Parts: sequence; C-alpha cells; structure tokens
Amino acid sequence: MPECLDISEGFDVHEYRAGLKLRTQDGNSMHLENREGYGCPACGRRFDRLFVSSDDRVSFNDPPNAPFCLARTAEQLLLLTH
Ligand SMILES: [Zn+2]
Repeated sequence: MPECLDISEGFDVHEYRAGLKLRTQDGNSMHLENREGYGCPACGRRFDRLFVSSDDRVSFNDPPNAPFCLARTAEQLLLLTH
C-alpha cells in the first residue's frame, strides 16, 4: 500500500514537498501533482492530482474527468483525483 497523506492534524504541503509538485496556486488554493505515489487519505489508493483549499466555498467549472475523493480537515477542503 502506498504511504497515505496524513491529514489527521490538517494537511501541510511542506511535509510532502519532496513528492508533491505544485502546479498552480491561486489565493488560498493549490493544485498539486502526486510525483511520489502517495495514497489518498479517503480510499488509500494512489491519486494523481490534489486540489487543496482553505476557502470555505469552492466552485469547479471543469469537474474532474476521473473518479475522485473528498477529504476535509478543520481548515481545508481536499479533492483528490484518481
Ligand atoms: Zn481516493
């Protein structure tokens, strides 16, 4: 099983800096690419992309064309595509 992102105390991108590549950053949101094969905190499977936002409302104009999982911490929303 791949190492899953540990979000039990919030998601800290700096803990995973070596394996998550920042694609875009916009305000309180980031798109990251999973270069290290980390596992999804929701289902345990490897994910491709991670969207994380500390905004309390987020809209997607282009929904992911793939299965995806959602996870939340006290401060953040996470969307993981597979
Ligand atoms: Zn998942």
